[in-house]
Amino acid sequence: MSEYVKDLMADVKAKNPSEIEFHQAVEEVLESLELVFEEHPEYRALKILDRIIEPERVLMFRVPWLDDQGTIQVNRGFRIEMNSAIGPYKGGLRFHPSVNLGILKFLAFEQVFKNSLTTLPMGGGKGGSDFDPKGKSDNEVMRFCQSFMSELQRHIGPNTDVPAGDIGVGGREIGYLFGYYKKLRNEFTGVLTGKGLNWGGSLIRPEATGYGAVYFAAEMLTTRNQTLDGRVCLVSGSGNVAQYTVEKITELGGKAVTLSDSAGYIYDEEGISSEKLAFVMNLKNMRRGRIKEYADEYSSAVYTPTDPAADSNPIWSHKAECAFPSATQNEINAVDAQNLLNNGVYVVSEGANMPTTLEGAKLFLDAGILYGPAKAANAGGVAVSGLEMTQNSMRLPWMRDEVDKRLQQIMHNIHKTCVETAEQFKTPGNLVNGANIGGFLKVANAMIDQGVV
Ligand code: NDP
Repeated sequence: MSEYVKDLMADVKAKNPSEIEFHQAVEEVLESLELVFEEHPEYRALKILDRIIEPERVLMFRVPWLDDQGTIQVNRGFRIEMNSAIGPYKGGLRFHPSVNLGILKFLAFEQVFKNSLTTLPMGGGKGGSDFDPKGKSDNEVMRFCQSFMSELQRHIGPNTDVPAGDIGVGGREIGYLFGYYKKLRNEFTGVLTGKGLNWGGSLIRPEATGYGAVYFAAEMLTTRNQTLDGRVCLVSGSGNVAQYTVEKITELGGKAVTLSDSAGYIYDEEGISSEKLAFVMNLKNMRRGRIKEYADEYSSAVYTPTDPAADSNPIWSHKAECAFPSATQNEINAVDAQNLLNNGVYVVSEGANMPTTLEGAKLFLDAGILYGPAKAANAGGVAVSGLEMTQNSMRLPWMRDEVDKRLQQIMHNIHKTCVETAEQFKTPGNLVNGANIGGFLKVANAMIDQGVV
């Protein structure tokens, strides 16, 4: 690390104490960007990095609501408006008890580069709350969403900031949030993406992140003249991203053998067929149950509880060729990464955001496997959100095929940008550098064009 980057990192840590996920995300990007500063000292002179790591605006607010017993509950709401150099702030809302400022800042920071890679005009943002939708009634979720939106509505708009879903925020939550925004503002606009199909949503948006992560894996395999056909795949999570990852793996001839939630994982040696996936979708999206029930339903599956305090996660210790981490940040540490490599995994496509620790990622890069970092591999979700914004502006919905084709083309282009940028900066095959630098350049140049703002 150069003295400049070391000083910058020290400053980030001093100014944002205890925001460890934010430190991690910034460190990963800065390591890649060092390659840029050698060739382009002007970015340093114009303090682009110093500016890009500071959010344009951070909103933090009280979210009081009444539970079904009439008791007042209080949560904390956030929106990080990170960077608007190339378009309105865009990024999801996360409802999970672990949510805090550091986690949302890491997500918003990553979003800036990811959105830039899609080639669509979207800045970066992220938000959410420490509210836990698990175990809450629909009415409680609705009252929470309404209270959350009663404050957020002041800060967002179709040309200002357009949130979407993330962990704990799916179709149900987007519906309640949109309904309340419309009531408060008396306007029907594309202020959120991930909307229902009957009221402005785009076809393929629910599928887009998972499909995109699989398309990205297929693109990486193409560089070795291979396909997903016949490949055994480990998938973590069992929410939106994991479900559509499994669907697309199966469609392309692969075999997904695992799914998980925060309590444990299932391993189904026979593979998660379309019929079994339909069971999971009903279990998770309608009944809101636990993945353990999969093993109760299908005797071919084994359920293993997981211990978050353990030094590794056994889901990553099965023989396979591909891994699609699709649950949460830092779910693959160095031990897990080594286990994956030892068990034959040579394709990792990150559906979740920052699922691999810095040490784990280094092992993948050193091993020379096909490693698709989150910023690139999971950009399909926000890309189709961008397409939803376009359809809303035109007031014209596109057919399923058209959106899917555009998604595939965008994933192809993102992969190409990553490969070519990695080569241009003399680290061929390193898609982490490719994604970080590729995403950075467009934002940095836009910031220069727009002056010191
Ligand atoms: P969902 O809420 O639909 O599903 C999340 C899944 O991950 C659940 O199975 C959940 O299990 C599991 N999970 C969440 N937190 C933890 C944890 N701390 N430890 C273990 N398991 C956990 O979210 P999504 O599928 O939308 O999001 C998954 C990942 O993909 C996130 O990293 C998100 O940021 C990323 N992503 C999502 C996009 C989207 O379009 N939705 C776009 C780009 C990235 P449990 O039910 O037990 O909590």
